[in-house]
Amino acid sequence: MKVTEHIENAKGKTLFSFEIIPPQKGKSIQELYDNIDPLMEFKPPFIDVTTSREEFIYIDKGNGLLDKKLTRMRPGTLGICASIKHKYNVDTVPHLLCGGFTQEETEYMLVDCHYLGINNVMALRGDAMKHEQSFVPKDGGNHYAVDLVRQINDLNCGKYLHEVMDVDNRADFCIGVAGYPEKHLESPSLQSDLRRLKEKVDAGADYVVTQMFFDNAKYFAFVEKAREMGITVPIIPGIKPIAVQKHMQILPQIFRIDLPEDLIHAVDKCKNNAEIKQVGVEWAIQQSKELKAAGVPFLHYYSMGKSENIRQIASQVF
Ligand code: FAD
Repeated sequence: MKVTEHIENAKGKTLFSFEIIPPQKGKSIQELYDNIDPLMEFKPPFIDVTTSREEFIYIDKGNGLLDKKLTRMRPGTLGICASIKHKYNVDTVPHLLCGGFTQEETEYMLVDCHYLGINNVMALRGDAMKHEQSFVPKDGGNHYAVDLVRQINDLNCGKYLHEVMDVDNRADFCIGVAGYPEKHLESPSLQSDLRRLKEKVDAGADYVVTQMFFDNAKYFAFVEKAREMGITVPIIPGIKPIAVQKHMQILPQIFRIDLPEDLIHAVDKCKNNAEIKQVGVEWAIQQSKELKAAGVPFLHYYSMGKSENIRQIASQVF
């Protein structure tokens, strides 16, 4: 079922969903299942599976020289989606990236999704690779998420990249896109970023999932501005509980988001990561309860492959 159909069927009730990341190349999928299992009691109608960008790795050639190779360290997004769908009878949402994929490769993936009965996809640009100053699409690839949305929407209309005769089994993807309550880091202003979001919706996006935020006021203001701009699709808040001290530095640095002073003070008082994790859980519970009371369609959690803190939060909120 489509994410938007789940929202319609819920008739105003807030639902639970979460995002997982594929295991590192060579690791078993079992750890992923072990982390999904405890979350299934909260009946997620869908689970998102991220896609990683390729990155350079260095292989020792044995003669003192290093070989530089471009590789994806966490492959398997589509396989994981198919296996979770089958194992748990739940909808899955693979993340599709512009970065690192040609339009042709994207089309192949969409065809695979269609045959697998996966009819939700998240359309994302992806970040620049570590060695790049700014994002560079692959030759023949989509540049912005809006271009990817257009490609998916074209396919929904039966338009493949090259003419296909007799399309009698049309794909019908529900398309999710990213939104940024504190604006995307490359965008000159929130208003300009919202105009880009509107372009994605006008191109066919059906719903928005937000970047993590720690101050609900930022989400509420974002939704209000989006509505003023004519963005009417559901805007699902993304929640990430702080789990370790490192998050306090890297989350604002990587995502250019603000951490509220009260949260910083609460973490400062902690003596170890176990206490920090507890502060993160309690903060996310408060955030979630307020968002739920405001009637958000879903509370979508960034699990980063670990479920214990998400389970604690969900057990207090759902
Ligand atoms: P876009 O919507 O293309 O926007 C990128 C930037 O370009 C913005 O600053 C925007 O304002 C600007 N812009 C847009 N269109 C134009 C235009 N036509 N001309 C000029 N400027 C323009 N990353 C991953 O690698 N894998 C994942 O699985 C993944 N999942 C994510 C899930 C969610 C919910 C979110 C919020 C982010 C996720 N990301 C993921 C991160 C995402 O790829 C990055 O934030 C990326 O830098 C931007 O992606 P986007 O789809 O928002 O890009």
